Amino acid sequence: MLMKNKFLSYPDYAKYMLDVGELSASASLLQWDQEVNLCSGGVSSRARQISTLSGIIHERITDDEFFSFIKILQGDKTLSKTEKSNVRVTLRDIERKRKYPKDFVETLSETSSYAFMAWDKARKENDFGLYAPWLSKILDLKKREADFIGFETHPYDALLDEFEPGMHVKYLDSLFDSLIPPLEKLIDAISAKNPPEKTFLNQVFEKDAQWNFTMDLLKKIGFDFTRGRQDISSHPFTIHLGEGDVRITTRIDENNISESVWSSIHEAGHALYEQGLDLLGYSLPAGEAASLGIHESQSRLWENQVGRSYAFWEFFLPFLRKYFPHQLANVSLETFYGAINHVKPGLIRTNADELTYHFHIKIRYEAEKELITGNLAVRDLPDYWNEKYLRYLKINVKDHKTGVLQDVHWSHGSIGYFPTYTLGSLYAAQIYEACLSQTENLESDISGGNFMMLQHWLQNAVYRHGRHKYSNEICEMATGKPLSIDSFLKYATSKYNSIYNL
Ligand code: ZN
Repeated sequence: MLMKNKFLSYPDYAKYMLDVGELSASASLLQWDQEVNLCSGGVSSRARQISTLSGIIHERITDDEFFSFIKILQGDKTLSKTEKSNVRVTLRDIERKRKYPKDFVETLSETSSYAFMAWDKARKENDFGLYAPWLSKILDLKKREADFIGFETHPYDALLDEFEPGMHVKYLDSLFDSLIPPLEKLIDAISAKNPPEKTFLNQVFEKDAQWNFTMDLLKKIGFDFTRGRQDISSHPFTIHLGEGDVRITTRIDENNISESVWSSIHEAGHALYEQGLDLLGYSLPAGEAASLGIHESQSRLWENQVGRSYAFWEFFLPFLRKYFPHQLANVSLETFYGAINHVKPGLIRTNADELTYHFHIKIRYEAEKELITGNLAVRDLPDYWNEKYLRYLKINVKDHKTGVLQDVHWSHGSIGYFPTYTLGSLYAAQIYEACLSQTENLESDISGGNFMMLQHWLQNAVYRHGRHKYSNEICEMATGKPLSIDSFLKYATSKYNSIYNL
């Protein structure tokens, strides 16, 4: 009997990847719903649903026949450059994924769903004990994952690779070693000065008006609501649910308007990147983000270089004032700009200023390394956390909710994600510096509410590469040099010199 081979040519590969992509998007929709809508009674069945789908997706993408076909297809001389690159990146993914057994993937997925719900409850009730057993389970699985993947010097390297391909502990250790001392120096100089006036921020900003303002802002900066939406969740996030459906979430605190505004801008930066990816490459590496470091560079660029700039608020403050006429009646643009760039160590990472932010990341990075090597036990994590906050940020952590329970990442099984925020911030500064030098009148465009030039520049410099280039290649092509801390320090020094008269 003659068996018909189901894989013959590139279109068979593309069709197969589309099927896998649709399954992944369906799993993502279940996850979005879990974080935005799910009732507590639905937790177990939702955990099983996502886990079952994860197992099926894993089985499909690691299929022996498909793997053999991809290896053959790699040598096909008739493929275009883009097609070759898609195949090369897919092969790299499959080789990594084939190191995990299917039951491991299902267990990690199911455990993450339970861990997320436990984290959410623990955070609301300020009870680390509710989360600790689930975090221990997650860490055991991540240690196994590092063993499956393999590593040369540090198990954390194997986990970093999932978020930032090629990244390792040695590089990050030296990056933080060179970044932290100049930041400490700058923060010390700032602490010696009078803080900007910011008492107007200590008012009640009604939730509905905050929501309406963020929706207005998203429209004005170019978020495409025909291809996405915004909702509320415990921890803001962005998720891609298929072609033409990129969703973001925010969270609103009536006593802290910064929470919703900059969460929305941050997530919009992620979403603009996702919405700007090549639609023809949907479900293929051509239509996917390069890495989490590059992803965070886009969110941090919009959040900080753009969203905390004078030019941005020259345009947006009059709109914000329409929503909060009473609260902002006597607040000038200068006062507002100073207040939103106020540097002060705080407990919450997502509300941190651009300088102290990196201490929050360093603390999490150090904790993750210790947890994954087993040098730090989960039961000792809160004390470890509180000690580090006292040491690096000279601040006392008053409860678990604003301490060790503030971030969702570990409950998702994302160990090795945090360093991408610092990498992203450094990429953002370097990329924005290049954008400013390669465009004319960018700041006056922004102060006039025109974000098209910035979007086009980012499209060309970052979005269009998909996953065809590594992060550092994108950085070098966009900025003419490899990543360094220089642009960030130059940007920060100049910005805070002028705000604080250093
Ligand atoms: Zn982000």
